[in-house]
Parts: sequence; structure tokens; C-alpha cells
Amino acid sequence: MKIAEIHIYQHDLPVKNGPYTMANAEVWALDTTLVKLVADNGQTGWGETCPVGPTYAESHAAGARAALIAMAEGLIGAEVAPVTLHRRMDRLLNGHNYAKAAIDIAAHDLLGKHLGVSVSTLLGGATTDRVPSYYATGVGAPDDIARLAAEKLAEGYPRLQVKVGGRSVELDIETIRKVWEKVGGSGMRLAVDGNRGWTTRDALRVSRECPQIPFIMEQPCNTLEDLQKIRPQIAHGLYMDENSTSLNTVITAAGTGLVDGFGMKVTRIGGLHPMRAFRDICEARNLPHTCDDSWGGDIIAAACTHIGATVKSDLLEGVWLAAPYIEGNYDAESGICLEGGHIALPQGAGLGITPDESLFGAPVASF
Ligand SMILES: [Mg+2]
Repeated sequence: MKIAEIHIYQHDLPVKNGPYTMANAEVWALDTTLVKLVADNGQTGWGETCPVGPTYAESHAAGARAALIAMAEGLIGAEVAPVTLHRRMDRLLNGHNYAKAAIDIAAHDLLGKHLGVSVSTLLGGATTDRVPSYYATGVGAPDDIARLAAEKLAEGYPRLQVKVGGRSVELDIETIRKVWEKVGGSGMRLAVDGNRGWTTRDALRVSRECPQIPFIMEQPCNTLEDLQKIRPQIAHGLYMDENSTSLNTVITAAGTGLVDGFGMKVTRIGGLHPMRAFRDICEARNLPHTCDDSWGGDIIAAACTHIGATVKSDLLEGVWLAAPYIEGNYDAESGICLEGGHIALPQGAGLGITPDESLFGAPVASF
């Protein structure tokens, strides 16, 4: 089965009660990119990539579309097979994993539909049909975030991620303490995510001033060197998110004991094929990790849920989806939604999602 046509779409996703605030980004609306692959047998597959604004990572929406347009012509006639497709994409364009992820996800959807199996089966097999998620709070006033934490605990979320950074560290410490007053002893796991926003001074101070609160510290500072510097001095588990840009950085971080786990974005690492290798590296080193959206709609949410369902259950820190923060679904019937802090694994062949194409308008480019 070969790729016969590639169609690239742009779609706007409004953020509910915006903006969503992180240390280095305010998000009011999302500019997502969808890819439809049509095979020579007429079957179709959908992929998606959606950078969360231009400052979260070294990626932006227009860049995703430019990279896809640059590769598309060279992908016509390619076999719909993840290994050879990635090698072909790498020969056409160096880097730009987040754009390649849209092709990768569409290829998995297409292959699953062709073989009559779900994407999670293609990825090695689901171990659950109810995948745990976690809630990410946004940076906010300590009392507001503590109230939100109590709400999310009551809704059934097994894990909470508190966003910090981009303001005084005293406010961050007060937020962490107030959240713990609400969720401590409940069994809810806690992550504190700096999104690169703390200095090493701030990270050391937070760890020293909250020694009794068992949170993990996610990407507190900007660089790998910052993480290396704080690593021997902090009392808390350290997870890498934004710095884990490829399998290469993951292997080094896992192999040198730099981190205790990862926040991982399916699109950042290049899609489901590299994500599968990432999952297996983490399992070999007993490292917990997430399988996240970098925002986006039903297509990317389904991809994250399928890979999340295949992770060894005690190593899965959850699948984070943009669904609670954005309006609507691409698939009104079987679109992805969160219930009680968990996500039902989509059923059916491929991703299990049939997007309503009319939502996306005319393609911005077709090949
Ligand atoms: Mg993170």
C-alpha cells in the first residue's frame, strides 16, 4: 500500500476560558495542522500536529505546515510502513520531528484501517481500555490552584500537574504547599512543572523548602546543563520534558541517570514509531513517563491514548489531553473525552476516529 495523495489542512481550536498560562507562554487559541493521507487503494488516514503557541518549544504552526509542504512531494509513492517512511522523511528534511509526527500518525491510522486492527494493537497491544489522565492547572493564584486541585481530586484524576514559573518563587512555593494541603494523603500523585521557567537557584530553593511534599519536578529549568547542575542537590524526583527532543537525548538522559522519568509529547519526538522505542527504553530502565498531546484535537488525542494504553501500567504517568481545555470534537460520535480523570480507548480499526472533514475547509496544500 503506497501513499497516493497528501492533503494538509489548517484549523483553529479556541481555548476555553483563555488564556491558559505557563511560565513562558499564554495560550488563547490553537492553530492546528491536519494531514490526510490517501493510499493507492483509496483508504485514508489522518494525522495532526499542534504546537502550543510559538514559545513553548522550538516549533510553531506555520513551521509545521512549511515542513510538511517541503516533504509532501517526496512522500508520494512511499510505502505506508513506519520504519521506511521515517527514513524517507529524514532524507527529505533534517529534524522537524513535530511536523513528521503528523505523517507518522496518519500512516499508523491508515495501516491499522488496512489491516483491520487498532493503532494500539499495531504498537504492541493495549493493556487497558481505560487510560489514566492527569490534570494540568496553569500558573495561578495559590488559593485558586488549591481549589482546582480539590475539584480534580473529586473528579477522579489520579495525578495533578501544577504549573509554576514566570513569577516570584515565593508564590510557587505557597501554591505547592496549599495544593498539598488539599491532596496530601489522598493517593493523588503530584507533579510540579516549571516549563523551563525557573533558574537553578529557584529550583534548589523549592526543593529545600518543600522537603516533605513528594512531588516530582518536571523540566524546572531551561537546559540540560541546568538539570545536571541541580540533579545532585535536590531531594525530589526529576523529570525531563522540553529537553527530550529526540530518542538520542532520551537515551543519554536515561543512560546517565540524569532523570527519574519523562514528560513526553508524541509529536515532539516524531510520532508513534519513535514513541514506541521511547516507551521500550523507559521500560528497560524502569522509568515512568507520560504520553502527551502537545495540544490539538481528536486525532492527536487518539494517537496519545493508543500509545498510552500500551505502556506498562505502573510506569504510565498518564495521558494528558487538550480535550478539557478546548471546545468540540472532530468526531461528534466517538470523539475523545475525559471521564473521571480517565480516557476510554477508542474502538475500531486505526485511530478509531472519523473526523468531520467539513470542519477543516479546503486544504491549504494538496499533493
Ligand atoms: Mg511539562
